[in-house]
Amino acid sequence: MHRYSPERVHLALVLLAVCLLLAACAGSTPVADAGQPISDPDAAQALDAGAGTDASGGPDAAPPDGSSAPDASPSPPDAGSSPDAGLDLKCTPTFTLQLEDTGPKGQVFADAVPDPEAFAQETGRTVCKILYRSPEEVRDANHLTLIIRDDPQYPGWKAGDVGDITVMISSDHLAKVKAQGQDVAREIRGILLHEMTHMYQHDDKAPGEGTYGRLGNVIEGVADAVRIRAGYPPTGARPSKSGAWDDAGYAKPAFFLLWVDGRHAGFLHDLNLSMVAGDGVAWTPDAFLSITGVGVDALWSQYAGAACCSGTSQLCCN
Ligand SMILES: [Zn+2]
Repeated sequence: MHRYSPERVHLALVLLAVCLLLAACAGSTPVADAGQPISDPDAAQALDAGAGTDASGGPDAAPPDGSSAPDASPSPPDAGSSPDAGLDLKCTPTFTLQLEDTGPKGQVFADAVPDPEAFAQETGRTVCKILYRSPEEVRDANHLTLIIRDDPQYPGWKAGDVGDITVMISSDHLAKVKAQGQDVAREIRGILLHEMTHMYQHDDKAPGEGTYGRLGNVIEGVADAVRIRAGYPPTGARPSKSGAWDDAGYAKPAFFLLWVDGRHAGFLHDLNLSMVAGDGVAWTPDAFLSITGVGVDALWSQYAGAACCSGTSQLCCN
């Protein structure tokens, strides 16, 4: 028989509080609609523009190489005219826009991107030009559904795999970017470059593969490396050289990968191909040694001294 005792009641209350706390923590895994896990809830912490170097930092200053942003409406790829034609064709997905927010915040998107299909297709081609050299190398992804939703929690995410991909961009986030006087079209391009890299990049995710503990950070690093290489670094993104190269995602590994690519031409292309899923090989950082002839730890310590890739200059890591 349970006899009542104040100590036992106190203990029970403490235990209850702990359980509630644990339940609350366990329940916070973000879930996209229809129960799909958000494969890329990465932009959450960037809501306050510039906090954390995430995929959705506000627009940055002019691209480091000074070239103008490719915001103009793109010309459709012409199949026969250039060697890249096959690659362009492979990375021009069919497109569906779901403008869920038809209110003033949704209008911010519509005003910034009058032709979303052309805008998204051109972004896909830009991603592939940075990651690939021939259409055969490209991971299959045929259709993009772009959702514009009034989501105060995430500025953006990507869901789906091989074939049908869904990207969500938050109209709430875009309205905040606009309210801060920043370039909304540039922000959309940056988020889309990041999320569409997830659409086309290899990620080692196959049975018996994908076992590297920090694979997620490497995948996010490649996505931000493409965004930065295209001239759309997240606002506030700066190289970080403390700790390990992959103990965080996004800008930290991104700038490092771009620095390695600057020293070993084609590194980013080869790194992405080393992450092909279904090749029977679980990816590890040994790929750095196979590609460059130098181990990742040695490269990371060399990178520590690279002044051209630092908080004040990204001349050799863009
Ligand atoms: Zn991401």
